[in-house]
Parts: sequence; C-alpha cells; structure tokens
Amino acid sequence: MKESKTKIYPGWYYRLSQFFSQHFSCRIRKIPVHARLDCPNRDGTLSDRGCSFCYNPSFSPFLASPGSIREQIMEAVRKLSPKARENTRFLAYFQSYTNTYGNPDILQKMYQEALSLDEIAGSAVSTRPDCISDQVLAMLQEHAKNKHIWLEYGLQSSHDRTLERINRGHTAAQFTDAVERTKGRGIYICAHIILGLPGEGMKEMEETIRFLNRSGIDGVKIHHLQIIKNTSLAEEYFQNQIKTFSYPEYLEILVHLLELLHPSLVIHRLMSEVTDPDLLIAPRWEQGKAQLHQEVERKLKERGSYQGARSGVELS
Ligand code: SF4
Repeated sequence: MKESKTKIYPGWYYRLSQFFSQHFSCRIRKIPVHARLDCPNRDGTLSDRGCSFCYNPSFSPFLASPGSIREQIMEAVRKLSPKARENTRFLAYFQSYTNTYGNPDILQKMYQEALSLDEIAGSAVSTRPDCISDQVLAMLQEHAKNKHIWLEYGLQSSHDRTLERINRGHTAAQFTDAVERTKGRGIYICAHIILGLPGEGMKEMEETIRFLNRSGIDGVKIHHLQIIKNTSLAEEYFQNQIKTFSYPEYLEILVHLLELLHPSLVIHRLMSEVTDPDLLIAPRWEQGKAQLHQEVERKLKERGSYQGARSGVELS
C-alpha cells in the first residue's frame, strides 16, 4: 500500500488541486469533451436500460456541442477570460458515456487529437471496468509517457448485490481486474463511488471505502445518490422504495468515511452535481460544493482529525 508523502494536519483531506500543484508548475483545469461514444449498458450489448441512476445529460455538459474534439477544446479555452487562461494548462476530460468502448483505431485518433494540442497537459478518461482492453491500456500507457493520464473507473459500490440492483452490468471483481491490468503503466487510476445507494447502509459504505484502500488506485470521486428525472431510480423513489440523504446526514457520513479513506488517495470530488437543476428530483439541497468542502474541513478540524485518521495507516 502506498504511503502518503503529503503533510497531514487536522482538517486536511487530499484535494485534487493540491495533487496538481505537486505535479505541475501551472494551474490545471479540466475541459469536458464529448466523444460521441456509446455505453454497452445502453446500446443493448449488456442491457438497454442503463444504470438505474443514470440519465447522462444530467452530469455531462456540452452534449450538444457539434464540434470535433479539437474544436470543443479550443472553444472551451477561448471562452475563458484572459485571467483564467493565465499560466494554465488543461486536461481533456472524456466524461460522457464509456470512453474506452469502441473501435481501438477510432479511440486512438480521439485521444491523439486531444493530447497533441499544446494547451493540453493530459487527459482524464472515464469508463466502465468491464470495458478496458489491454490494447487500449497500451495506447494510454504510450500517451502517459508524455502527458498526464487519469483513467476513471465507475465502480459505485464494492457490493455485487448493489451493482445488480442498480443494473450496473459488471461486478466488483471486474473492477479489481481492470485496476490490476492498469497498474504499473504510468496511468493514474480513479474510482467513482456513490454513497447512499439502495440497500446500502453505513456498513456497506465503509466496506466500499476499505475495498478502495486495498485496491491500489490513486484517487476517488465521491458522489451522493441523486434521483434524476428519466431514470428507473426515479420510479423507485416515487414508490417510496428509496431515501436520499439530507445535507447534514451526508456531511456526517462523508467525514466519517474520509477518516477511513487511505490518506494517499486524491479526492477528485465530494458530491454529485447536475448540469441542469430542473432534472434533479432529490435531494434538493441549498448547499453547494464550496460550502461542503469548507464544512468537511471544519468538522475534521473540530475532531482533530483528517483523511485516513482511522484507516489504520501509520503516518510519519
Ligand atoms: S452510468 Fe455510465 S455505464 Fe451506466 S448507463 Fe450511464 S453511461 Fe452507461
């Protein structure tokens, strides 16, 4: 297991901005790009229903963007103010659907198109753990020699019964296999999880965190369960089959789980966001991302605690 080389103090958790400042001398911003790929859980290969929580437009901006990968990136850069562009480079974020799913030649062309731009310091590629071939891994490994590459695997839960319940179409063992095949290639690995999935309580969420601690990944994206219009989870919600967290509940749970999370894991995200608030059914919190970050830090400080304080890792 990796040991943290980061300074730890009460209130500390390992933010992505801190990670970037350790690896780059400039600011790093992500630019979402839409590659127009599909997902095997939607196109009929595994299922045509998708994951029960997923309505892709709710978390993928720019889906309607008509341009090529290069045009999408250049347009996003152009839209930034001169101040926001100053001393800044970008990660092309292949976010929507399954960005390692498709003809390898087309995938390579798409990665190449983004990574050949001077403005682009690297890429974050979001995918499913059952959709990563050794051929695509080898491509990304080559790119990782010159650019900064994150591969983001949607895990959501380490419990197969939950994965089945939300119609993920893959198992936790497939995640472990994907991570094992990705390690040692110079590619940073991130896992996405959702807290509050149907049928899960604190015990299951703690087990998912411990599973991640053992997995050898580099970072984690934490989401709270949101009920989005046009999903099968919305139907379950209206039949009173599932509950969502209130903001104070989520804050408590998050702080508790951060104390269990290995301190070397970079936190890419602490909560879900929707691109269009009208798509969100529940929970509809007043508080946003900035407030949650502040309050997590404050709560950890009050407890004299920090990320990994109860992970069992000896810190020097
Ligand atoms: S969450 Fe990802 S894997 Fe699941 S249906 Fe949506 S695009 Fe496909």
